Amino acid sequence: MSDAASRPLKDLRGVGPAIAEALSRLSLQTLSDLWFHLPLRYEDRTRITPIRDLRHGESAQVEAVVDAVERGFRFRPMLRVTVSDDSRSTLTLRFFHFSKAQAEGFVPGLRLRIYGEAREAPGGFEIVHPRYQRVQLDTPLDSALTPVYPATEGIGQSTLIRLAKLALAALPDDAELDVLPEALRRMAHLPSLGEALRVVHAPPNSTDVAALLARSHPAQQRLAFDELLAHQIGMRKLRRHLRAMPAPAIKHDKRRRRAFLDALPFALTKAQGRVLGDIDRDLAAGKPMLRLVQGDVGSGKTVVAALAALAASDAHVQTAVMAPTELLAEQHLRNFLNWCEPLGLRVVWLAGKVTGKARAKALADIAAGADIVIGTHALMQEGVVFANLGLAIIDEQHRFGVHQRLALRNKGRDGTRTPHQLVMTATPIPRTLAMAAYADLDVSVIDELPPGRTPVQTVAVSDARRDEIVERIRVACAEGRQAYWVCPLIEESEQLEAKAAQATYEDLQGALPDVRIGLLHGRMKPRDKQSVMDAFKAGELRLLVATTVIEVGVDVPNASLMVIDNAERLGLAQLHQLRGRVGRGAAASSCVLVWQPPLSALARERLAVMRETNDGFRIAEKDLELRGPGEVVGTRQTGEMNFRVADLVRDAEVMPKVAQAADWLLEHDPRAADALVSRWIGQAVEYAQA
Ligand code: ADP
Ligand code: MG
Repeated sequence: MSDAASRPLKDLRGVGPAIAEALSRLSLQTLSDLWFHLPLRYEDRTRITPIRDLRHGESAQVEAVVDAVERGFRFRPMLRVTVSDDSRSTLTLRFFHFSKAQAEGFVPGLRLRIYGEAREAPGGFEIVHPRYQRVQLDTPLDSALTPVYPATEGIGQSTLIRLAKLALAALPDDAELDVLPEALRRMAHLPSLGEALRVVHAPPNSTDVAALLARSHPAQQRLAFDELLAHQIGMRKLRRHLRAMPAPAIKHDKRRRRAFLDALPFALTKAQGRVLGDIDRDLAAGKPMLRLVQGDVGSGKTVVAALAALAASDAHVQTAVMAPTELLAEQHLRNFLNWCEPLGLRVVWLAGKVTGKARAKALADIAAGADIVIGTHALMQEGVVFANLGLAIIDEQHRFGVHQRLALRNKGRDGTRTPHQLVMTATPIPRTLAMAAYADLDVSVIDELPPGRTPVQTVAVSDARRDEIVERIRVACAEGRQAYWVCPLIEESEQLEAKAAQATYEDLQGALPDVRIGLLHGRMKPRDKQSVMDAFKAGELRLLVATTVIEVGVDVPNASLMVIDNAERLGLAQLHQLRGRVGRGAAASSCVLVWQPPLSALARERLAVMRETNDGFRIAEKDLELRGPGEVVGTRQTGEMNFRVADLVRDAEVMPKVAQAADWLLEHDPRAADALVSRWIGQAVEYAQA
């Protein structure tokens, strides 16, 4: 890689110790770091917006003259400057932090260019803490967009813009800088790297401004491509590294498997059998298995995992089963005890809440070689020492980050050996997204539900018809069925969510005096949660009012009616997960999505999708489509992947090309591949080399 790339920033003109220090707080040490310190967004100061045309929530530049200045101190210092322009409208500039000199600088008659986000306030538009400069009537407008960089204390935008320009001047030519082979670059219709960097840092006058603001400019696409490619290569290398290590070769004992299957009240589906076959092959190979099992809610992943654990115990290695919530982990505990203890396996429980003597005993059992250890992320804590961990099973993996997954795997490492890894998820994700998120894993899909399930009938009902819904529950419970009433997050607070559930619980108790109702939310003690769950499972409670704690894993086949309050606020993935709690038995199940008016177009469409289909994969595709470009898929689906310019939803369609490029580079130019990873992932390379 070029010498310029590694030149320290303190060599740049105007970078003294203070600025160098501020730069290093942004992890910027070398010229190359600065090349890839990309603008977060742009300010469009190439034109003036009349005050009359301002729009709430949109940023704009205004040119106006100061009319009045008001300094106040109500609860905190405040400065209000009223300005007006040729459109004869007024705008208020509002400051909460300001210096005396700054306040005195505003004098009536002063002409200003003002930039900021307009808000509609009772007295007309206002901008809080705008950026502004004095201008003359003939001061020219900017001819290009102004980049806005991630900044920190001690270094402002103007310095970053200046330094970026200096760094760009030292950009080597593409032969040296660009690792993408020309042919590949052309195939993907991407500009060269040098060109892309120049455009994003200092957009020339001719730039397609709208595209740049919308983050869809080819220069941005090129950078996104490189970033996705760097992650792809990092994950592939991680995979290669792991696959080069030995792992216990596990062959299951046919008699014990037969005994396990014979004791089940059902036969495995074809899809379960096929996925189990994939796992058997992986386990026997003597290399670490790295497999993701995807299967829609209710497809029966748990029993497949238990069969893998049984095989591990046949080979005298331990299995750890980790679930994201205690509720789900306990349900696994019960299932595994049921299925595996009769065959002589020792199953140990270890969650964060297990303390004192119980914890000491659990730890001793784990160290002594207990076959299966089940718990939450507590399994990864210091002090948990396995005798011989051979298989790590992670359920609902989208709830854990990449790092947690790695931590559990590291537990089982002794020198060169590494445990097999089986991760499971019920969140179906479109294929292109899976390529990005799971590049280090092989994927098996359980694409069939156990027989006898009737599809869940879904209806959407306005909150105005609450009485009818309550009546429906009364009838269902009188017929011996059970029901859930879910109160999802209304504010971003578990406490408020718990309160909403509590209020609904009390309402329903009043409205349904003959129905035994339970309440379940995240702020209850684990023991109380468990006893409510037990009572619901046993049928003593007929209606369970719950928060979204029940979203993953909860399995009560007799429950066949689900009401989801405020359904308009939930995303498709979450609605699908919640609905998956019913339709698990033979009885026809239904799901009532209760919405509060007014219903946005997007919410209306989401509810329509839920009514139309029960197919998790179709819902995932639809979800991607509805979110549309620009809206980010949360960590729910992609673990902890944080991108600087790439956006998995917007850029999903280039993933096949990214995968191709990764293949090519790893094979033909491994040094360039490494350079790309360190360029984009930098310090986070432990993850690439873990
Ligand atoms: P998920 O894939 O959502 O984790 P579970 O493993 O919880 O699904 O299984 C859902 C329910 O289906 C459980 O009650 C389980 O015992 C049952 N089940 C699993 N496999 C079968 C099968 N082949 N036939 C009938 N029921 C099954
Ligand atoms: Mg499950």
